[in-house]
Amino acid sequence: MAFGWIDGQAESRRRAGLVRTLRPRAAGTPLLDLASNDYLGLTRHPEVVEGAARAARTWGGGSTGSRLVTGTTELHAELERELAGFCGFEAALVFSSGYAANLAAVTALAPHGSLVVSDAGNHASLIDGCRLARGTTQVAAHADPDAVRKALSGHDGPAVAVSDTVFSVDGDAAPLAGLAGACREHGAGLVLDDAHGLGVLGDGGRGAPHAAGLAGADDVVVTVTLSKSLGSQGGAVLGPSRVIDHLVNAARTFIFDTGLAPAAAGAALAALRLLRREPGRAARAGAVARALHATLTAAGLEAVRPDAAVVSVRAPSPEQAVRWAADCRAAGLSVGCFRPPSVPDGIPRLRLTARADLSGAEIERAVRVIGETRP
Ligand code: PMP
Repeated sequence: MAFGWIDGQAESRRRAGLVRTLRPRAAGTPLLDLASNDYLGLTRHPEVVEGAARAARTWGGGSTGSRLVTGTTELHAELERELAGFCGFEAALVFSSGYAANLAAVTALAPHGSLVVSDAGNHASLIDGCRLARGTTQVAAHADPDAVRKALSGHDGPAVAVSDTVFSVDGDAAPLAGLAGACREHGAGLVLDDAHGLGVLGDGGRGAPHAAGLAGADDVVVTVTLSKSLGSQGGAVLGPSRVIDHLVNAARTFIFDTGLAPAAAGAALAALRLLRREPGRAARAGAVARALHATLTAAGLEAVRPDAAVVSVRAPSPEQAVRWAADCRAAGLSVGCFRPPSVPDGIPRLRLTARADLSGAEIERAVRVIGETRP
């Protein structure tokens, strides 16, 4: 039977407690949400919803084609200008997802004969970018500029180091100044995935590269998602015009993919304008994460100290992680459950996300439920 081999894989997964299933959210479910990436609580903000609705009314339900044919509207161009301006880069290019943006940035900047140095804790989309790139990849130890320096030394030809700015599993931050220093010593470029930094870190949420003084540098390229702090969907690459023009001509996930849906572009633009107008939202997300961490620690739970909005709590086994998350859910709390292969080190975790609009009482309630359901 053609697909019979799948049963063997499914059985091993079942035995290891690693089966994944979809659980559709019902509209209006009254769960306390510490699982989504809606860090600023903007996805349901009336201005964001209206931004999406207005864009759909003006431009339709889809973008109608690839960006180079019919899929670029004035709204896409406006979003790119404002996103680049906000984060402090010369230019930006919007993609249908952050995943596609990462594939584009890494593949287009790692031609044949080049070297890509990739942090061991990077997100799957950067890893896949390395796998698709024509250059050779070396995996460097996690958050270690010396490892990057060592990997780059002796290489002749184009080179880039790629790293998340905030790692998606543990929420720890990359040593950006050290990475930039290592790259500059070797004339290499630096590609940073700021999916979890935009809207949370940097002045008014301008992102981790901005906070590290790397915004606008001619050797730094940043990717972002529109699906977390900006409460929408889609992704973008920000950087020098030379790089953005190159992506327009060489990045396959830009050229061959249908442009971002107008509603998503409209929602992201509305969120960006809100963030500009209300810069305090960014700092609040970080403060809530720190409060959540302090409350967890005071309750005797071991959690990684957050550098942004993600707080990670280790679980003893994949099965117990799944049960823990299910018990939280039964008690009205939604938390993320990360297991292999979504974790780089095989350790299962509950992944909690701090939202700027969580109240002190909600944090207390969440920690109480997590403590009471602990395996
Ligand atoms: N990079 C990181 C670090 C992420 O966590 C994610 C989303 N999980 C992505 C990229 C992909 O972004 P998107 O969901 O917009 O495809």
